Amino acid sequence: MYLVKGGTQRSSLWNSDFIREHDVPGPRYTSYPTALQFHEEFSQQDYLDAVARSNASKKPLSIYVHLPFCASLCYYCACNKVITQSEEKKRDYLDHLIMEIRQKATDFGTSRPIYQMHWGGGTPTYYGDAELTELWYQIGRNFHLVDSERGEYSIEIDPRTINADKLGLLKGLGFNRISLGIQDFDPQVQAAINRVQSTQQVLELMEAARSYQFRSVNFDLIYGLPYQSVASVADTIEQVIQMSPDRISLFNYAHLPERFKSQGLLPEEALPSAEEKLAILCAASNQLIDAGYVYIGMDHFAKPEDELAMAYQKGQLHRNFQGYTTYKEADLIGMGVSAISQIDNVYCQNTRSITQYQECLDAGQSPIMAGVHLTQDDLIRRAVIMSFLCQNGLDPVQIQQTYQIDFRNYFAAELQSLARFVEQGLLEAQGGRYIVTPRGRLVVRKICMAFDVYLPDHLKQGRRFSRVL
Ligand code: SF4
Repeated sequence: MYLVKGGTQRSSLWNSDFIREHDVPGPRYTSYPTALQFHEEFSQQDYLDAVARSNASKKPLSIYVHLPFCASLCYYCACNKVITQSEEKKRDYLDHLIMEIRQKATDFGTSRPIYQMHWGGGTPTYYGDAELTELWYQIGRNFHLVDSERGEYSIEIDPRTINADKLGLLKGLGFNRISLGIQDFDPQVQAAINRVQSTQQVLELMEAARSYQFRSVNFDLIYGLPYQSVASVADTIEQVIQMSPDRISLFNYAHLPERFKSQGLLPEEALPSAEEKLAILCAASNQLIDAGYVYIGMDHFAKPEDELAMAYQKGQLHRNFQGYTTYKEADLIGMGVSAISQIDNVYCQNTRSITQYQECLDAGQSPIMAGVHLTQDDLIRRAVIMSFLCQNGLDPVQIQQTYQIDFRNYFAAELQSLARFVEQGLLEAQGGRYIVTPRGRLVVRKICMAFDVYLPDHLKQGRRFSRVL
């Protein structure tokens, strides 16, 4: 672990010239290899073999549940979601999800402890109180959820679909963390993206969340939306700071209407230019740091007393498909359409089609449609990449001992890249170790990419990855 030097970050940390020089389009490394390497030759037997190894390891488990439905379309959205008003469709999906829960519980057994669970979407809270209760009940009776003191149970919330009473229900079920989709408080921006929600609504939810004593509240914000400017985003950030969420995610909007049709509904002429976006990112980030938030990495900020920030300071962060987490490595069971699982040394993904998902479950089959088996080289490179992302540096000796390799020979080319990053001020070399500098953290994926053996092929596929601009 690599302690972060100089606990307090300065507001001048984010600097346009620096980002412009070093930011590169690249993966966000919620996994390595990334989902682009998943292939359909991955078989049911591959999955079952991985489950058997996982069961033998007795590792703790975490669960991800995907609830894909939304009431209306946010034009910027690039998520795997379905807009519907049909209660029948939602019910049908829930019935099949419960079938998958039982199927997965049979595979993994009901006694392995679950320390982490996340419900994402879509809009999980688009389901009614009775259905949310039924879903929690089905997971609780089929898996061993540890108590709320020890477990992290989180849910994504669209503020338009919830009030204080429903929030109380979620707390009563056992959720102890919530993430609110805010995006921007400016009415003109909200109208342009087709997501109108009042500041008052969010304020009331925040008050309720505090009174119910949720352990952590996260706000999702987006920069790069139509009509945003440095000044308008500064207003939103000021309101956010007043509401005082524990964590903030500040995501980049990437405009790709050829891939995501609804983005074509946005007024293109009102989108901020690349230079404006960069100015917004730097100003908003510095504003958050001035207000006392700590930059965790990869778009994430947290209050210094938040568990995520404390783990960052100690070099004890971990990373999975939901982003940064404090929880140590566990196998992940993904359930629902398009959900990804990480089991022993495989990643595998359910079909992205709801029809196919439901047909598989009706036929008693697993809905897993693609995956990848990690080679020894993948495991070594994943360890290096996660060390840079989560522990703020790299100890080659540790990798060498863990994986029984000669680091200098194995990574001869990559070591040249590291030397260049040291010259550029992204890394510091200390006693054979590499430590990411505070500025290096802003562009840490550039460092990770030096170890990504699949990357040249990915880049040939064009604009598959996002960048700050
Ligand atoms: S942003 Fe969220 S609520 Fe809006 S369409 Fe996408 S998934 Fe649904």
